[in-house]
Amino acid sequence: RTVYVNGEYLPEEQATVSIFDRGFLFADGVYEVTSVIGGKLLDFDGHAARLERSLNELEMPNPISRDDLLAVHRELVSANGIEDGLVYLQITRGAADRDFAYPEDPTPTIVLFTQAKPGLADNPKAQTGMKVISIEDQRWGRRDIKTVQLLYPSMGKMMAKAAGADDAWMTEEGHVTEGTSNNAYIVKDGTIITRHLGTEILHGITRAAVLRFAKEAQMKVEERAFTLDEAKEADEAFITSASTFVMPVVEIDGTALGDGTPGPVARRLREIYLDESRKTAV
Ligand code: PMP
Repeated sequence: RTVYVNGEYLPEEQATVSIFDRGFLFADGVYEVTSVIGGKLLDFDGHAARLERSLNELEMPNPISRDDLLAVHRELVSANGIEDGLVYLQITRGAADRDFAYPEDPTPTIVLFTQAKPGLADNPKAQTGMKVISIEDQRWGRRDIKTVQLLYPSMGKMMAKAAGADDAWMTEEGHVTEGTSNNAYIVKDGTIITRHLGTEILHGITRAAVLRFAKEAQMKVEERAFTLDEAKEADEAFITSASTFVMPVVEIDGTALGDGTPGPVARRLREIYLDESRKTAV
């Protein structure tokens, strides 16, 4: 694989980052994941805009312009012959003598690599639906910043796996925040309900696109907190993320939703999202 590190394209074996990098020592870094379908990037502008926001929130200098960032994404997709897959991007505050305070003149580290995912849009889980468990949301309070502190979400995925489920939905005071790496939705009497934006959840790029398509298709949308109990009594449920698009959820904590198969709203939104984002892919 060819990867990108601080302005250079290198074979992955030759790509290195300092042991003093603040991404490594403090999780002082942010990331983005952009999907590639048919060799093209989905929602690139949304991901670039959120990256800029995350950097701003952390007062981290942006080492790359949006145009150059797009060029690097495209170069890696082409160099690695990615038809379907992902581009991972990470920017950290860079290497500095270990100190909690930010260094005065940081030189950010920027790394990009690709992951091939053949058949990404034909994930068989879309046919069967996912099972989720609920866990307490024990992450920090600025989940709207896409930082690389992903240990708790990793633990959540392991808890789900141990319980024979596909993922975990996190709850705070009885209300669902989001999935470990995705936004969470329920559907009741035809209305799509998903948590409102705030510091409690990541502002999903797929979420924004899917809600826009839902409204354009005259579907009813409520952006508000919903409880775990409400979710278990919903007609259907689903998640969204850049790498799963729209994925139906058919079971929560062992309780089947509806008839236990992917619901019509989730299936329709998945189709619309894939069709529409293919059209605008770059
Ligand atoms: N919430 C969390 C916690 C996530 O990690 C992700 C995926 N990075 C999402 C939501 C979905 O965001 P997006 O649609 O931008 O991939």
